[in-house]
Amino acid sequence: MYSFKDISSLHTDLKNGSITCVQVVDEILKSIEEKKHLNIYLETYADSAKEQALLVDEKIKKGTAGRLAGVVIALKDNICYKGHKVSASSKILENFTSLFSATVVERLLAEDAILIGRTNCDEFAMGSSNENSAFGKVLNPVNEKTVSGGSSGGSAAAVAADLCHVALGSDTGGSIRQPASFCGVVGLKPTYGRVSRWGLLAYASSFDQIGPLTKNVDDAALILEITAGKDEYDSTASQKPISSYSKETNAPLAGKKVAYLKDCMESSGLNPEVKQRLEETIDKLKAQGITVEGVDFPYLDFLVPTYYVLTTAEASSNLSRYDGVHYGYRSPNATDLESTYKKSRTEGFGKEVKRRIMLGTFVLSAGYYDAYYSKAQKVRRLLRDKTLEILSQYDFILTPSTPSTAFEFGKNSTDPIQMYLEDIFTVQANIVGVPSISVPIGKDSTNMPIGAQLMAKPFAEGEMLAMAKGIAQLF
Ligand code: GLN
Repeated sequence: MYSFKDISSLHTDLKNGSITCVQVVDEILKSIEEKKHLNIYLETYADSAKEQALLVDEKIKKGTAGRLAGVVIALKDNICYKGHKVSASSKILENFTSLFSATVVERLLAEDAILIGRTNCDEFAMGSSNENSAFGKVLNPVNEKTVSGGSSGGSAAAVAADLCHVALGSDTGGSIRQPASFCGVVGLKPTYGRVSRWGLLAYASSFDQIGPLTKNVDDAALILEITAGKDEYDSTASQKPISSYSKETNAPLAGKKVAYLKDCMESSGLNPEVKQRLEETIDKLKAQGITVEGVDFPYLDFLVPTYYVLTTAEASSNLSRYDGVHYGYRSPNATDLESTYKKSRTEGFGKEVKRRIMLGTFVLSAGYYDAYYSKAQKVRRLLRDKTLEILSQYDFILTPSTPSTAFEFGKNSTDPIQMYLEDIFTVQANIVGVPSISVPIGKDSTNMPIGAQLMAKPFAEGEMLAMAKGIAQLF
């Protein structure tokens, strides 16, 4: 089996003929079959992938292939690909076929990527363990007794298990970075507005971003470079020109200043081995002459509540379109309009999605709007101001990606609050809208991967990728 290292070596091997796209795709499809028990793919696009592989092999021969020639990419099951199914891992959208492709998908295909299939995720991207999928949980390939993380658990596991070269995920509060950390891969959440959300099934629109999960930082940079940029279909996609991210990953790090949040490092929920590894990271960076200083962030306890008030509010609005009339599932037991809504939604949505719709509807209701929704918006502003203040004095904020390594199935599933606290370090970047990345920094004593997270100024992805590469190389 071809051993994929990075996109650049793949291209060398494809060009010198030691491997072809057709072979690569066949091998990966075979591995997917062999590792079916991990429950990573909900469906492979075997036919279209094989066709594309043939075409790309021709282009390579002619010298006309694009920048992602032969790169086998998995899509999280909430990203639309025309003529292919997309379900957000929900029964309410089971068997729904996309009528158009997401902008990111168009951009990947334009560079001759090969889309291999759609990966399992938490239903409507709500979750931190992939246990909320209507189609079963994803096993972590590093240790099958543990969760792969969520919500892009299938995408992270696909990269870790060599069932694709790159995967796309979406990140509303950590759904790319947390599973990346749990599975030992790189996960990048771009600045809000850097990548078009057109064709992404919405969860919380002012938080959602699409981003790559990869084996290394350079691949993440290239995927960002290709997927980012303005888009006439998404008015929140920034007009700001994109940088050549893939050329910026080796930029010198001398003179960079890194802040770590003292409150994070002292937080009671932080696993001692994760803490120790982060301290080691800090020491190693200092030894390289990089300034790393502890700063106060007294608002740590506000992050998770703010995130859950605002995202559930947005979700209750976004998910109202699944009503048994517009899209997807309609209950066969419905007898009139009202029972069509009620029964279709009751039967179509899973427990966690219903919990969030109800919570979101409550915080938006006339009597409570000011107490919860307006208040949370004000706190969001406060959190943004404080984070940007730190980022005006430092280039990056460094934290652990997650309070612990991947946990065992069932550990948090009976206690939603405990599960929500898993997101404590990741939600900040989405609340504030800044870019963030998780990179592997070795393993704990049980051989489970640990991740370090960086946040940077809005649109400073290039610098952040360079620092992330520097950190990944320390271990
Ligand atoms: N775990 C978080 C949640 O459940 C993050 C999800 C996400 O980023 N899509 O909302």
